[in-house]
Parts: sequence; C-alpha cells; structure tokens
Amino acid sequence: MIIDCHGHYTTAPGALQKFRDQQIAGLKTGLDVPLSAQTKIGDDEIRDSLENAQLKLQRARGTDLTIFSPRASAMAHHIGNETTSRRWTQACNDLIQRVVGLYSDNFIGVCQLPQSPGIAPVNSAAELERCVKELGFVGCNLNPDPSGGHWTSPPLTDRHWYPLYEKMAELDVPAMVHVSSSCNANFHATGAHYINADTTAFMQFLSSDLFADFPTLKFIIPHGGGAVPYHWGRYRGLAQDMKRPLLKDYLLKNVFFDTCVYHLPGIELLLKVIPTDNIIFGSEMVGAVRGIDPETGQYYDDTRRYLDALKLSDADRHKIFEGNARRVFPRLDAKLAAG
Ligand SMILES: [Zn+2]
Repeated sequence: MIIDCHGHYTTAPGALQKFRDQQIAGLKTGLDVPLSAQTKIGDDEIRDSLENAQLKLQRARGTDLTIFSPRASAMAHHIGNETTSRRWTQACNDLIQRVVGLYSDNFIGVCQLPQSPGIAPVNSAAELERCVKELGFVGCNLNPDPSGGHWTSPPLTDRHWYPLYEKMAELDVPAMVHVSSSCNANFHATGAHYINADTTAFMQFLSSDLFADFPTLKFIIPHGGGAVPYHWGRYRGLAQDMKRPLLKDYLLKNVFFDTCVYHLPGIELLLKVIPTDNIIFGSEMVGAVRGIDPETGQYYDDTRRYLDALKLSDADRHKIFEGNARRVFPRLDAKLAAG
C-alpha cells in the first residue's frame, strides 16, 4: 500500500473557519466564544469537501491512506491565549476524527496541539492523550515556534519541552515538526518559515543529547527536511567539529524526512543523501503548492511521480511508501495489522 504521511484538511467546510472568525472577533470585543458556538457540520458537507479534492487526488495518483491533520497554516498558535488555542485545536481535531470516521480506509488522524506562546508545552499533553486514546489518532504536529515567526520559545531540545515528550513516549506517537502561519513579514509562511523551521529543528537535534534522554522519540521533519539534505556535508561537518557522534549513528534513529519536495532533482538528491530507512512518502496535498508544473504538465505536489521515475529496488520502494511510516507510527501499524 502507499501511505502518504503528510496531508492537511485544507478544504474543511466553511463553518470551521466561521468559528475561528468568531473567536478572533471575540478577542477584540472581549466576547468569550465557547466551543459550543460552532455551527454543526453535516456528514455530507465533509464528504463534499473531500470527494473533489484529497480523495479525488488519492484515487488519481494511486495512493491509499493519508495521515491527516488539521490545516497547518491555520493552527496559528500565536492568536489569542491558551484558551483560544485549546478550543480551536479541539474543533480542528474533532473534525479530523469525523473525516476518519467517514473514510477510515483513506485517512488516519494526526492532531494539532493547543500550544500557545509562553505556555508550557506540557499543557498540550491532555489534548494529545485525548486524540490518541479517545479519537484513535496516531501522532501529532508539534510547532517549534508557537509565536508564528518570532521564535520566542526555547529550542526543541530544551527541557522546557521534555514533559510533553514524556507523554509522546508514553503514548508511543511521533511528531511532525510543523510550524504554522508567519506573523513576521520577513518570512513567507510556506516559502520561508516552513523551510527555515525544518532546517532549524534538525540543527537543534544535531547539537543536543535529546535522543539519549528519549531513545524512542521520533520526529518527522517535513518538506524534505528543509535545507538539510542539500547541505548534508555541512551538517556532518558541524557534527564532527562539535565532537558529536556520526549522524547516522544517533540522529537517524529518531529523525525522518518526508518527500514533500516538488521536483524530480530534489527527490533524487534526497534519496542519494538520506538513507532509505529515513524517508517517508508524503505529498502535503492539498497544500502549499497547488499548481501544475508547466515543465512536466503534472502537479508539483504529485510526489509519487518523482519516486516512480527513479529506479528503486522493491525493498526501498516498500520502505518509502509503507514500511517506514508503519515503523515511525506504531499505532498506525497496529491498526493496519488488526485490519
Ligand atoms: Zn504540512
């Protein structure tokens, strides 16, 4: 089967955004908008939002199952306070569960976390646990910068984050390191902030002993690992200068890269540089780049085509399209094994 590890509900029914707009308006007027203020979304609205988008593309591209999470750019943890974030997060996660309930063969849930600038990450543990234990989700998206481009939190390797990692380890779920929208005009969200964050997270991991403290913790660095694969020699060299162990001996037991790189030469480089055991198929559709590449006549985010164009062994294909995802998401593996 082909598992796409990176999909967001970018086409959610308008009622979800309406709730968010009410929340944001309430922040200005002092009106407290409870979770119950949401307009009820019907199953048909959910079906309509997917049939002509993610599901159509799954079928057209021959992929089977998408690891599905709320729209990343809309997480916007910097908006409002902890309560704002918690209610918005619950609304988004509950809707993902509805999607999975309607299309359990096509989607499996990964949650947004109710992070908020200046708030201890452990405060997200309860929502993570709810999503995993009650909603059946298999992972989370962790925002290393809830401030939206101003980087006010300690690095991901700081003990600030450890209590949340303890919950991740206890639940045996990985996190995709995923920033949200940027409120720093220097950084375009998907063109700069995302890629910067991917690169930044890797360098933080490289220079720390996080995985000595949490040997089972796993992170997926999306968007092909940001600038990391392209500059692999730099990172190997920095690790060497810092007297760190070889990257393959420690980071690569815990850190994985998706294939959301939107051209063939990028995928070729990713596969040449990063061990196959550390690459998980992902497309991030329908997401950041929605157009058709005039050079190929195909969608930029149809990342399966790039992999199909390479002469991969059957074993490597299996790892990238299925095996690695099942290894990194043990709860997904268990669900698939249980049929
Ligand atoms: Zn994403």
